[in-house]
Amino acid sequence: MKLKVMDVEFGYASTPILRGVNLELAKSEVLSIVGPNGAGKSTLIRCINRILNPQKGCIHLDGSDIFQMTRMQIARQLGYIPQSDHQSFPATVFDVVLMGRRPHIGWRSGRCDKEKVLDVLQMLNIEQLAMRDVNEISGGQRQKVLIARALAQEPDVLLLDEPTSNLDIRHQLEVMDAIRTLVAEKNISAIMAIHDLNLGSRYSDRMIMLKKGVIAAAGRPFSVLTEDNIKQVYGVDAAVKEEDGLPYVVPKSPIKHNGGKQSW
Ligand code: ADP
Repeated sequence: MKLKVMDVEFGYASTPILRGVNLELAKSEVLSIVGPNGAGKSTLIRCINRILNPQKGCIHLDGSDIFQMTRMQIARQLGYIPQSDHQSFPATVFDVVLMGRRPHIGWRSGRCDKEKVLDVLQMLNIEQLAMRDVNEISGGQRQKVLIARALAQEPDVLLLDEPTSNLDIRHQLEVMDAIRTLVAEKNISAIMAIHDLNLGSRYSDRMIMLKKGVIAAAGRPFSVLTEDNIKQVYGVDAAVKEEDGLPYVVPKSPIKHNGGKQSW
Protein backbone atom coordinates (compact mmCIF):
# COMPACT_ATOMS: atom_id res chain seq x y z
CA MET A 1 0.00 0.00 0.00
CA LYS A 2 1.44 3.33 -1.01
CA LEU A 3 0.29 6.51 0.68
CA LYS A 4 0.71 9.83 -1.05
CA VAL A 5 -0.07 13.23 0.49
CA MET A 6 -0.12 16.00 -2.10
CA ASP A 7 -0.10 19.74 -1.39
CA VAL A 8 -2.28 19.41 1.69
CA GLU A 9 -3.44 22.64 3.30
CA PHE A 10 -5.53 22.77 6.42
CA GLY A 11 -6.58 25.49 8.83
CA TYR A 12 -8.84 25.66 11.86
CA ALA A 13 -11.27 28.50 11.07
CA SER A 14 -9.13 31.15 9.39
CA THR A 15 -5.80 30.10 10.93
CA PRO A 16 -3.65 28.15 8.47
CA ILE A 17 -1.96 25.17 10.12
CA LEU A 18 -0.69 22.90 7.32
CA ARG A 19 0.73 24.72 4.32
CA GLY A 20 1.43 22.66 1.20
CA VAL A 21 2.47 19.37 2.80
CA ASN A 22 3.72 16.61 0.48
CA LEU A 23 4.87 13.17 1.51
CA GLU A 24 5.02 9.61 0.28
CA LEU A 25 5.12 6.42 2.27
CA ALA A 26 6.29 3.17 0.75
CA LYS A 27 5.42 -0.36 1.86
CA SER A 28 7.30 -1.61 4.95
CA GLU A 29 8.48 1.88 5.78
CA VAL A 30 8.32 3.77 9.08
CA LEU A 31 8.14 7.54 8.75
CA SER A 32 8.40 9.87 11.73
CA ILE A 33 6.93 13.35 11.85
CA VAL A 34 8.87 15.58 14.22
CA GLY A 35 8.66 19.28 14.99
CA PRO A 36 7.95 21.66 17.87
CA ASN A 37 4.67 21.82 19.76
CA GLY A 38 1.97 23.28 17.55
CA ALA A 39 3.86 22.58 14.29
CA GLY A 40 0.90 20.57 12.98
CA LYS A 41 2.01 16.94 13.51
CA SER A 42 -1.29 15.72 15.00
CA THR A 43 -3.26 17.79 12.51
CA LEU A 44 -1.45 16.10 9.62
CA ILE A 45 -2.08 12.62 11.05
CA ARG A 46 -5.75 13.51 11.51
CA CYS A 47 -6.01 14.79 7.93
CA ILE A 48 -4.50 11.54 6.62
CA ASN A 49 -7.08 9.58 8.61
CA ARG A 50 -9.79 11.94 7.32
CA ILE A 51 -10.82 12.95 10.82
CA LEU A 52 -10.12 16.44 9.44
CA ASN A 53 -10.81 17.53 5.88
CA PRO A 54 -8.02 19.56 4.26
CA GLN A 55 -9.14 22.69 2.45
CA LYS A 56 -6.73 21.91 -0.39
CA GLY A 57 -4.70 19.02 -1.76
CA CYS A 58 -5.35 15.29 -1.94
CA ILE A 59 -4.40 12.08 -0.20
CA HIS A 60 -4.17 8.84 -2.16
CA LEU A 61 -3.94 5.25 -1.00
CA ASP A 62 -2.61 3.08 -3.80
CA GLY A 63 -3.83 5.67 -6.28
CA SER A 64 -7.36 6.01 -4.80
CA ASP A 65 -8.46 9.34 -3.35
CA ILE A 66 -9.38 8.81 0.32
CA PHE A 67 -12.03 11.51 0.02
CA GLN A 68 -13.93 9.24 -2.35
CA MET A 69 -13.83 6.34 0.14
CA THR A 70 -16.34 5.43 2.81
CA ARG A 71 -15.34 5.48 6.49
CA MET A 72 -15.35 1.67 6.50
CA GLN A 73 -13.10 1.48 3.45
CA ILE A 74 -10.65 3.85 5.13
CA ALA A 75 -10.77 1.93 8.40
CA ARG A 76 -9.86 -1.30 6.59
CA GLN A 77 -6.69 0.34 5.32
CA LEU A 78 -5.64 2.89 7.93
CA GLY A 79 -5.30 2.03 11.61
CA TYR A 80 -5.29 5.16 13.76
CA ILE A 81 -3.77 5.17 17.23
CA PRO A 82 -4.65 8.40 19.04
CA GLN A 83 -2.54 10.05 21.74
CA SER A 84 -4.91 8.87 24.38
CA ASP A 85 -8.29 7.28 24.32
CA HIS A 86 -10.09 7.39 27.58
CA GLN A 87 -12.68 4.74 28.02
CA SER A 88 -15.43 6.06 30.23
CA PHE A 89 -17.26 2.74 30.66
CA PRO A 90 -15.90 -0.61 31.88
CA ALA A 91 -14.67 -2.87 29.08
CA THR A 92 -12.19 -5.70 28.95
CA VAL A 93 -8.99 -5.42 26.96
CA PHE A 94 -10.32 -8.25 24.77
CA ASP A 95 -13.52 -6.36 23.91
CA VAL A 96 -11.69 -3.12 23.18
CA VAL A 97 -9.37 -4.93 20.76
CA LEU A 98 -12.33 -6.79 19.23
CA MET A 99 -13.81 -3.37 18.35
CA GLY A 100 -10.92 -3.08 15.90
CA ARG A 101 -12.59 -5.86 13.84
CA ARG A 102 -15.66 -3.68 13.33
CA PRO A 103 -14.73 -2.47 9.79
CA HIS A 104 -14.60 -6.10 8.67
CA ILE A 105 -17.57 -7.62 10.46
CA GLY A 106 -20.35 -5.15 11.12
CA TRP A 107 -21.71 -5.74 14.62
CA ARG A 108 -21.47 -9.52 14.90
CA SER A 109 -18.10 -11.10 15.57
CA GLY A 110 -17.26 -14.72 14.72
CA ARG A 111 -14.70 -17.24 15.92
CA CYS A 112 -12.19 -16.09 13.36
CA ASP A 113 -12.38 -12.49 14.69
CA LYS A 114 -11.81 -13.68 18.24
CA GLU A 115 -8.81 -15.70 17.09
CA LYS A 116 -7.40 -12.63 15.36
CA VAL A 117 -7.79 -10.66 18.58
CA LEU A 118 -5.92 -13.35 20.50
CA ASP A 119 -3.19 -13.32 17.84
CA VAL A 120 -2.55 -9.59 18.19
CA LEU A 121 -2.67 -9.76 21.99
CA GLN A 122 -0.03 -12.49 21.85
CA MET A 123 2.05 -10.62 19.31
CA LEU A 124 2.17 -7.60 21.62
CA ASN A 125 2.72 -9.81 24.64
CA ILE A 126 -0.40 -8.64 26.48
CA GLU A 127 -2.59 -11.75 26.29
CA GLN A 128 -2.45 -12.02 30.07
CA LEU A 129 -4.37 -8.71 30.21
CA ALA A 130 -7.24 -9.96 28.01
CA MET A 131 -9.87 -10.06 30.75
CA ARG A 132 -8.69 -6.97 32.66
CA ASP A 133 -10.70 -3.74 32.59
CA VAL A 134 -8.88 -1.24 30.32
CA ASN A 135 -9.48 1.43 32.95
CA GLU A 136 -7.38 -0.52 35.42
CA ILE A 137 -4.14 -1.07 33.52
CA SER A 138 -1.01 1.09 33.25
CA GLY A 139 -0.37 3.77 30.59
CA GLY A 140 2.14 1.55 28.78
CA GLN A 141 -0.24 -1.39 28.75
CA ARG A 142 -3.07 0.84 27.53
CA GLN A 143 -0.87 2.12 24.70
CA LYS A 144 -0.25 -1.46 23.62
CA VAL A 145 -4.01 -2.13 23.77
CA LEU A 146 -4.63 0.81 21.42
CA ILE A 147 -2.00 -0.55 19.04
CA ALA A 148 -3.59 -4.01 19.30
CA ARG A 149 -7.01 -2.55 18.47
CA ALA A 150 -5.58 -0.84 15.38
CA LEU A 151 -3.80 -4.05 14.34
CA ALA A 152 -6.96 -6.10 14.72
CA GLN A 153 -8.28 -3.89 11.92
CA GLU A 154 -5.55 -5.44 9.72
CA PRO A 155 -4.66 -2.08 8.21
CA ASP A 156 -2.01 -1.48 5.56
CA VAL A 157 -0.85 1.71 7.24
CA LEU A 158 -0.63 2.50 10.96
CA LEU A 159 -1.03 6.16 11.95
CA LEU A 160 0.34 6.81 15.41
CA ASP A 161 0.01 10.08 17.27
CA GLU A 162 2.75 10.29 19.91
CA PRO A 163 2.81 6.55 20.68
CA THR A 164 5.32 6.99 23.51
CA SER A 165 4.01 10.07 25.31
CA ASN A 166 3.70 9.41 29.05
CA LEU A 167 5.63 6.15 28.88
CA ASP A 168 8.76 5.33 30.86
CA ILE A 169 11.87 4.40 28.89
CA ARG A 170 11.26 0.67 29.11
CA HIS A 171 7.71 0.97 27.79
CA GLN A 172 8.86 3.46 25.13
CA LEU A 173 11.31 0.88 23.80
CA GLU A 174 8.79 -1.97 24.03
CA VAL A 175 6.15 -0.02 22.13
CA MET A 176 8.61 1.16 19.47
CA ASP A 177 10.09 -2.35 19.10
CA ALA A 178 6.57 -3.72 18.70
CA ILE A 179 5.78 -1.18 15.95
CA ARG A 180 9.01 -1.92 14.07
CA THR A 181 8.48 -5.68 14.33
CA LEU A 182 4.88 -5.44 13.18
CA VAL A 183 5.79 -3.32 10.18
CA ALA A 184 8.39 -5.91 9.13
CA GLU A 185 6.33 -9.03 9.91
CA LYS A 186 3.03 -7.84 8.49
CA ASN A 187 4.61 -5.97 5.61
CA ILE A 188 2.67 -2.83 6.46
CA SER A 189 3.92 0.73 6.99
CA ALA A 190 3.63 3.34 9.72
CA ILE A 191 3.60 7.09 10.15
CA MET A 192 4.11 8.43 13.64
CA ALA A 193 4.13 11.87 15.15
CA ILE A 194 6.84 11.80 17.78
CA HIS A 195 8.46 14.33 20.10
CA ASP A 196 11.53 12.35 21.00
CA LEU A 197 14.04 12.97 18.21
CA ASN A 198 16.27 10.10 19.32
CA LEU A 199 13.48 7.54 19.36
CA GLY A 200 12.38 8.84 15.96
CA SER A 201 15.92 8.50 14.65
CA ARG A 202 16.31 4.99 15.97
CA TYR A 203 13.01 3.56 14.82
CA SER A 204 12.27 5.24 11.48
CA ASP A 205 13.51 4.82 7.96
CA ARG A 206 12.76 8.43 7.11
CA MET A 207 11.71 11.56 8.99
CA ILE A 208 10.00 14.81 8.16
CA MET A 209 10.53 17.89 10.30
CA LEU A 210 7.59 20.29 10.39
CA LYS A 211 7.87 23.96 11.25
CA LYS A 212 4.66 25.97 11.41
CA GLY A 213 2.89 23.56 9.07
CA VAL A 214 5.64 23.48 6.44
CA ILE A 215 8.11 20.63 5.86
CA ALA A 216 11.46 22.15 6.80
CA ALA A 217 13.47 18.96 6.24
CA ALA A 218 12.79 15.43 4.99
CA GLY A 219 14.87 12.33 4.42
CA ARG A 220 16.98 9.83 6.31
CA PRO A 221 17.51 10.64 10.01
CA PHE A 222 21.08 11.88 9.39
CA SER A 223 19.93 14.45 6.84
CA VAL A 224 17.02 15.69 8.98
CA LEU A 225 18.55 15.74 12.46
CA THR A 226 21.31 18.23 11.80
CA GLU A 227 22.47 20.88 14.27
CA ASP A 228 21.39 23.55 11.80
CA ASN A 229 17.86 22.14 11.30
CA ILE A 230 17.37 21.81 15.06
CA LYS A 231 18.49 25.40 15.50
CA GLN A 232 16.23 26.72 12.73
CA VAL A 233 13.15 24.67 13.60
CA TYR A 234 13.29 24.31 17.41
CA GLY A 235 15.39 27.35 18.25
CA VAL A 236 17.74 25.13 20.23
CA ASP A 237 21.50 24.71 20.19
CA ALA A 238 22.18 21.01 20.07
CA ALA A 239 25.05 18.67 19.38
CA VAL A 240 24.34 15.78 17.03
CA LYS A 241 26.46 12.74 17.84
CA GLU A 242 26.52 9.27 16.33
CA GLU A 243 25.31 6.24 18.26
CA ASP A 244 24.94 2.77 16.69
CA GLY A 245 25.35 4.39 13.27
CA LEU A 246 22.41 6.77 13.88
CA PRO A 247 22.21 10.45 14.79
CA TYR A 248 21.78 11.11 18.48
CA VAL A 249 20.69 14.60 19.53
CA VAL A 250 22.01 16.19 22.69
CA PRO A 251 20.07 19.43 23.31
CA LYS A 252 22.26 22.15 24.89
CA SER A 253 20.34 25.40 25.29
CA PRO A 254 17.47 27.43 23.83
CA ILE A 255 18.67 30.22 21.54
CA LYS A 256 17.79 33.63 22.93
CA HIS A 257 16.35 36.27 20.61
CA ASN A 258 14.90 39.74 21.11
CA GLY A 259 16.76 40.49 24.27
CA GLY A 260 15.95 37.15 25.81
CA LYS A 261 12.35 36.78 24.59
CA GLN A 262 11.69 33.73 22.47
CA SER A 263 10.10 34.51 19.13
CA TRP A 264 8.77 31.06 18.24
P1 ADP B 1 1.47 19.35 17.12
O1 ADP B 1 0.87 17.99 17.04
O2 ADP B 1 2.64 19.53 16.20
O3 ADP B 1 1.81 19.77 18.53
P2 ADP B 1 -1.18 20.25 16.43
O4 ADP B 1 -1.44 19.65 15.10
O5 ADP B 1 -1.79 19.60 17.62
O6 ADP B 1 0.40 20.42 16.62
O7 ADP B 1 -1.64 21.76 16.42
C1 ADP B 1 -1.25 22.66 15.41
C2 ADP B 1 -1.90 24.01 15.70
O8 ADP B 1 -3.29 23.88 15.57
C3 ADP B 1 -1.63 24.54 17.09
O9 ADP B 1 -1.44 25.93 17.00
C4 ADP B 1 -2.92 24.24 17.82
O10 ADP B 1 -3.15 25.19 18.83
C5 ADP B 1 -3.95 24.35 16.72
N1 ADP B 1 -5.12 23.47 16.97
C6 ADP B 1 -5.08 22.16 17.23
N2 ADP B 1 -6.34 21.68 17.38
C7 ADP B 1 -7.18 22.74 17.22
C8 ADP B 1 -8.60 22.89 17.24
N3 ADP B 1 -9.41 21.85 17.45
N4 ADP B 1 -9.10 24.13 17.03
C9 ADP B 1 -8.30 25.19 16.79
N5 ADP B 1 -6.94 25.11 16.73
C10 ADP B 1 -6.38 23.91 16.96
